[in-house]
Amino acid sequence: MIQTNYLIIGSGVAGLTFAVKIAEQFPDKKVTIVTKANENESNTKYAQGGIAIVTDTVGDSYQKHIEDTLICGDGLCDESVVEMVITEGPKRLKELIEWGAKFDQNTEGTLDLGKEGGHSENRVVHHKDQTGQEIQRAILNQVHQKENITVLDYHLAIDIITENNRCLGAYVLDQKTKEVITFQSDFIILATGGIGHLYGHTTNPKIATGDGIAMAFRANAVIREMEFIQFHPTALYDSSSGTSFLISEAVRGFGAYLRTKDGHRFMPDYDSRGDLASRDIVSQSIDLELKKTGAPCVYLDCTHLDLDGFKKHFPMIYEHCKSIGIDIAKDWIPVVPAQHYLCGGIVVDKNGKTSVENLFACGECSRTGLHGANRLASNSLLEALVYSDKIYQYLAENSAIENQAIHSVFGWKSAINPEINIDYVTETKAQLQLLMRQNAGIVRNDADLIKAGKKLSFWKKEIEQQIKKHNVNAALYELRNMIAIGDLIVQQSINRNENRGGFVKI
Ligand SMILES: Cc1cc2nc3c(=O)[nH]c(=O)nc-3n(C[C@H](O)[C@H](O)[C@H](O)COP(=O)(O)OP(=O)(O)OC[C@H]3O[C@@H](n4cnc5c(N)ncnc54)[C@H](O)[C@@H]3O)c2cc1C
Repeated sequence: MIQTNYLIIGSGVAGLTFAVKIAEQFPDKKVTIVTKANENESNTKYAQGGIAIVTDTVGDSYQKHIEDTLICGDGLCDESVVEMVITEGPKRLKELIEWGAKFDQNTEGTLDLGKEGGHSENRVVHHKDQTGQEIQRAILNQVHQKENITVLDYHLAIDIITENNRCLGAYVLDQKTKEVITFQSDFIILATGGIGHLYGHTTNPKIATGDGIAMAFRANAVIREMEFIQFHPTALYDSSSGTSFLISEAVRGFGAYLRTKDGHRFMPDYDSRGDLASRDIVSQSIDLELKKTGAPCVYLDCTHLDLDGFKKHFPMIYEHCKSIGIDIAKDWIPVVPAQHYLCGGIVVDKNGKTSVENLFACGECSRTGLHGANRLASNSLLEALVYSDKIYQYLAENSAIENQAIHSVFGWKSAINPEINIDYVTETKAQLQLLMRQNAGIVRNDADLIKAGKKLSFWKKEIEQQIKKHNVNAALYELRNMIAIGDLIVQQSINRNENRGGFVKI
């Protein structure tokens, strides 16, 4: 058994930021980060567009950013949370800059601010089209300088240990030694990110399997608004399943147009903001166009844009397109919507506390009330930065805890069974992804959701049998979590009796 004071599950912006702050506050306490892949693999690393923060106090204002967020959330945001997150943005940005993160500047030496769908002003602070990577680099650098932080990579958290609704620790599989480690921790912070791989077609990397939410659900934490899933309108079209390369919304902010195959600019038919409508509207519009025409994709036209400016702002997108034979000066980029972000998740209060004592959640796995039905572009990195600070502030004052003993540890018979049926995992996962795309995708209806619910109930029972037989195995545990998340999405979609599918009706 390993004892630690703060066990952080996940090494994206949410987990890392909290780790740096709490380690600095309490140099004598132990801070442990477990992360299931290498330390910098996360959704954070792939964030392109940037962080929405009001820094231009002349043309922009907190009020405008608040209004844009509320409109995008379709009346379901918690207004006090929106105000809190948005007004804290500049402080969190200052901190990132102090930690060494670099953001693009314009010729006057002030921050170069991008514009994305749903934003009424230019306010997206960015580092080329690699903002997430830059932030992660800077925060990881801080993490490495703190002697009281231990980072354990390739360690997959399996379950949280609770007793009487109080969190005591967690079971973690060391994927190299195949050993299950029991952690006893005063506090646990879930920062496990998103769920993209449940849909197969997603902008998220492979780590996004909803583990933290599934673990919290098994620990009886309250989970809400799982039906509010955001599909990014412009993932690069690729007929195979897996992670799709993202064409940032900032490209439309830079002036690109969406067109059908025959050149029609369809967005003005759906929304007066045209190509700059919020991403839920754009995704639904593309979905309708695809259904109308039977085409596999629509196109993003950048041919009229300033090529040098494009290369300067979006070097990664330019190079990626070039590497697959798309010359953006002449060719349109084929795009489709793909799963991108989860707005709901583990319910937390304004201090990041879940309904389970001593268990906190932060970042994409949490449901704070900021996003409502739909996230405004580039509000999620901001949310993770603000809430990791809120949890830190709370625990800086409330970390005294009486000695805990683990009473309910159950022993693992063996760490791994080499006989695991990998075909079962691969096939069930593929079927699950197809089911989610077809029955719980951009546009949903009750009949399809009920059908999906029945299939998921069957899989839920089947996977428990598999786990009994094979004991601990990373692939099986991830699949179990994905099935649990699928079921939560389907049940919560059905429960939202307006059956709006998590999106604003066009
Ligand atoms: C392609 C792309 C572009 C984006 N662009 C933007 C943008 O421009 N602006 C913006 O605001 N947002 C953007 N987002 C969203 C944003 O990046 C994420 O919402 C945010 O980074 C989430 O941070 P996080 O720390 O909550 O989770 P993540 O960064 O996803 O980190 C999760 C961590 O948890 C670990 N983990 C998961 N399960 C386990 C487990 N069982 N055991 C141990 N470790 C585990 C993972 O390995 C990972 O380290 C984008 C997302 C993607 C995918």
